[in-house]
Amino acid sequence: MIAIKETENKEKIWLSSPHMSGSEIRFINDAFDNNWIAPLGPNVTGFENDLENYLGFDKQVAALSSGTGAIHLGLKKLGVSNDDLVICQSLTFVATANPILYLGANPMFVDSERDTWNLCPIKLEEAIKSCISQGKKPKAIVAVHLYGMPYKVNEINKIAAEYNIPILEDSAEALGSKYLDQNCGTLGDISILSFNGNKIITTSGGGAIICNSKEDKQELIHWATQSRDQAPHYQHSELGFNYRMSNIVAGIGRGQMTVLDERIKQKRKIYNFYKLELSNSNLEFLNEPKFYFSNRWLTCVLTESYEHREAIRLALLEENIESRPIWKPMHQQPLFKNCQSFENGVADDLFKRGICLPSDTNMTSNDLERIVKIIKNA
Ligand SMILES: *Cc1c(COP(=O)(O)O)cnc(C)c1O
Repeated sequence: MIAIKETENKEKIWLSSPHMSGSEIRFINDAFDNNWIAPLGPNVTGFENDLENYLGFDKQVAALSSGTGAIHLGLKKLGVSNDDLVICQSLTFVATANPILYLGANPMFVDSERDTWNLCPIKLEEAIKSCISQGKKPKAIVAVHLYGMPYKVNEINKIAAEYNIPILEDSAEALGSKYLDQNCGTLGDISILSFNGNKIITTSGGGAIICNSKEDKQELIHWATQSRDQAPHYQHSELGFNYRMSNIVAGIGRGQMTVLDERIKQKRKIYNFYKLELSNSNLEFLNEPKFYFSNRWLTCVLTESYEHREAIRLALLEENIESRPIWKPMHQQPLFKNCQSFENGVADDLFKRGICLPSDTNMTSNDLERIVKIIKNA
């Protein structure tokens, strides 16, 4: 006899799914009405203005087709080329590191610290010193605000300044997060955002690069549009890319900007709910250090052990609920097996025991209660 509980709710719950405001379609309709379907147009400029106003500090924003493309152009702007060494946070999504390879440079991976799970200042300095002793100063440092939690900006900046190495700030997961009241996305020599499907706001696919001057923005846009020289015919003096955001996609972005702050509130509410409800479950939460503000893109917890993490992940999966282990560090990835790394065991441990809980702003309070009950029983 098969016992099926007919009433059991196994409705799918996502880790983080697109959440439209309703106003996106208005911007897209505008584009259709005016036949602005070609790549550039008023939505691109409008979205860039919205982002510039949001980020502040007189930053310049260029909307691109992806966050990965933005990292590619950003590293190129910092002068990274063939055979250069680039220091990169090991605990991250592979998109942070891939553009280093696109440019023919060599990534050198640096482990995390416990407080924010991001770039460890001690290991960073060790890596820089080691490069210099090998006769090669790193060309750039790629630092990531993982899961929306800002990295130790002051500590990292101090080291970067001491050795005069520029920082590419990967803020793909951290739009709306703040460090000492300054927006993530404005804290690097050059910074990037992503609007991929599962990010805090999405354009279905897209990204942005953030720089300090109109001239820099012009040059980045030039590269992003096949480096076309000014001439009536098509003329090119430099290698270019096809990385510009389209006017349709930018319309989604303008609609999403109207609800960014609301989404951050919802994400933080989800985190606080888990923290309260799971306070007796032997889970360690990633707390905000003083003067840090996380957008809480994904709520992440450390379980007691690999077995405990798997028990939670599988119990959720059984109930049609998506969760995900913490990013597998780049120094453990087969793709990067020949790269140097500076490890302290933190990223390995976070990968082993850490899990991202469903953090979808489309969830109801019933969904959240369902999840918490399963985790408590696991
Ligand atoms: C999503 C993401 C990217 C890449 O952005 P895409 O828009 O998907 O290319 C880069 N870095 C991090 C940390 C990300 O999470």
